[in-house]
Amino acid sequence: MKTKPKVDPYFDLMEIPPGYLNIMGYVDSSEVNGPGSRAVVWLQGCLRECPGCFNPSSWSFEINHLISVEQLAEKILSNSQNQGVTFSGGEPFWQAPALVELAKKVKAAGLNVMSFTGFTLEELRSPDAPARSQELLAQLDLLIDAPFVESLAIHSPDSPVSLHNQRVHIFNPALQDRITWASDRVEIHVLKDGSRIITGFRGQILSA
Ligand code: SF4
Repeated sequence: MKTKPKVDPYFDLMEIPPGYLNIMGYVDSSEVNGPGSRAVVWLQGCLRECPGCFNPSSWSFEINHLISVEQLAEKILSNSQNQGVTFSGGEPFWQAPALVELAKKVKAAGLNVMSFTGFTLEELRSPDAPARSQELLAQLDLLIDAPFVESLAIHSPDSPVSLHNQRVHIFNPALQDRITWASDRVEIHVLKDGSRIITGFRGQILSA
């Protein structure tokens, strides 16, 4: 019988079948999570437990909603308003292997790919980074990094980041002049089943 370690995301990540992602949420056509109109994928699971986290239901690594990379790519590409995809969380880099494959599929169709992370870029480039982090970095057009620190919050309609310690890393120079979204705006998406997703503030998600 398996004994579950107290904190080991890899233990729960083993429950995700290869080629699948464990997600917390998804929306199309968001304009507050990166340049232009974008699909946003919130990944389930985060170890940090930051005080003041806007999204504590994203912390558990237990299975929430499984979707195959194939299905998710089709969903993203079926909405012609999606010019790009943003990975948020939770912590996207714990599911880097499947996100690498998703990023390759949507980029092949002409979309750009961006990710938020609670790691710093230096941590993601270190040997201690989650598996295949460097491959995911190689697929990204933009990365917004750094841990959430509530006292460093920026409340400005002109800032693309919501914290003073966050950095925007532009890996694709074509997006240099498109860092124009405002992180302090809020969007409410009403889904087909009547549920709502409120997003924008801190790049996070709330279901209502
Ligand atoms: S990194 Fe983000 S999702 Fe994780 S605990 Fe901190 S604020 Fe919450």
